[in-house]
Amino acid sequence: MKSKNVGLYIHIPFCVKKCAYCDFYSLECKNSDMYADYSECIAGQIRALGKASQDLHFDSIFFGGGTPSLIGSRGFGQIFEAIYGSLFVDGDCEITVEVNPKTVDKSLAKAFKEAGVNRVSIGLQSANDNELAALSRIHTYSDFLKTHTIISETVTENISADIMYGIPLQSITSLQNTLDSLIKLRLAHVSAYMLKVEKGTPFDRMGKALILPDEDSVCDMYELIYQVLDGAKIKRYEISNFAKNGFRCRHNLKYWEREEYIGLGPSAHSFIDGVRYSYRRDLEKYLSTPEFEEYRVITDRDAENERIMLGLRLEKGIAPSDALLKRASKFIKEGYIKSEEGRLFFTTKGFLVSNYILSELIDF
Ligand code: SF4
Repeated sequence: MKSKNVGLYIHIPFCVKKCAYCDFYSLECKNSDMYADYSECIAGQIRALGKASQDLHFDSIFFGGGTPSLIGSRGFGQIFEAIYGSLFVDGDCEITVEVNPKTVDKSLAKAFKEAGVNRVSIGLQSANDNELAALSRIHTYSDFLKTHTIISETVTENISADIMYGIPLQSITSLQNTLDSLIKLRLAHVSAYMLKVEKGTPFDRMGKALILPDEDSVCDMYELIYQVLDGAKIKRYEISNFAKNGFRCRHNLKYWEREEYIGLGPSAHSFIDGVRYSYRRDLEKYLSTPEFEEYRVITDRDAENERIMLGLRLEKGIAPSDALLKRASKFIKEGYIKSEEGRLFFTTKGFLVSNYILSELIDF
């Protein structure tokens, strides 16, 4: 039987408290019985996956959320037992866990190490405590430092931090401080996301009372992130992701390079055998009978549009078709896109307006 490499995404839909800007599928929950029930449900699905798909070799596993660290050693033990007992896991599989400051202690870190976790992504968002409070995060910068120390001493040096720009109270100077703090810690990877006010979130409901940096400042912030990280050899490889040499996230690259992955948990997406599907954002339903929210067979035209939408997010861009080159010509003239050595890719100026340009480039 011919085998193929795939990624596994496991969504843990629990958080201590919802952040004011967040529209990921996660519920406030501090109930350890619920964590155990959910972990057992995921473990059962992993065992079923192992039986049904013996041709799959997993070379990346990613626990995302929510706040995966909340399920603790017990939850991870249940899930990892199923993973190693039922799936073919590559010897050099990248295993990432997302954690939030204040949710990891030494014993959980030890459990990560024993389970083979070799990459940890910490949700920092900002090194400024006033900005963290404005985002309604549960932690301070000093909590982040404690978590960083536990992870680096016990689990791995392959640590990523998430930061945000365009957030309330942020200035160029405070962002510079956040970046300087990360560089001092010698992080291997940084993800920098622009705040987007999502419908239905508390930030959305604040309306005009929510004061954010203006558009020009947000553009300057993205430029600053690029310049500062680049200067520290943390190179951009995707619009929002920066890594030292050898530390790009293999799992996330699968999304942008249209490789296959299987997602488990409410709201999790999968792309396998030419089909994209996702599970309903409903924990109770998922625990009883998981239902699809989306199930779509990808046509050739879909595939080409995805290659444009996802591939152009990457620093290296994509090899363009003649039709795409033609559509991109005005953006090339205006300096938003470059065409060099048979590849098409965004400039930094282009990345800032990439959503608009991508919508013009795809073939409806
Ligand atoms: S910790 Fe992350 S997933 Fe949870 S509410 Fe905050 S942003 Fe959303």
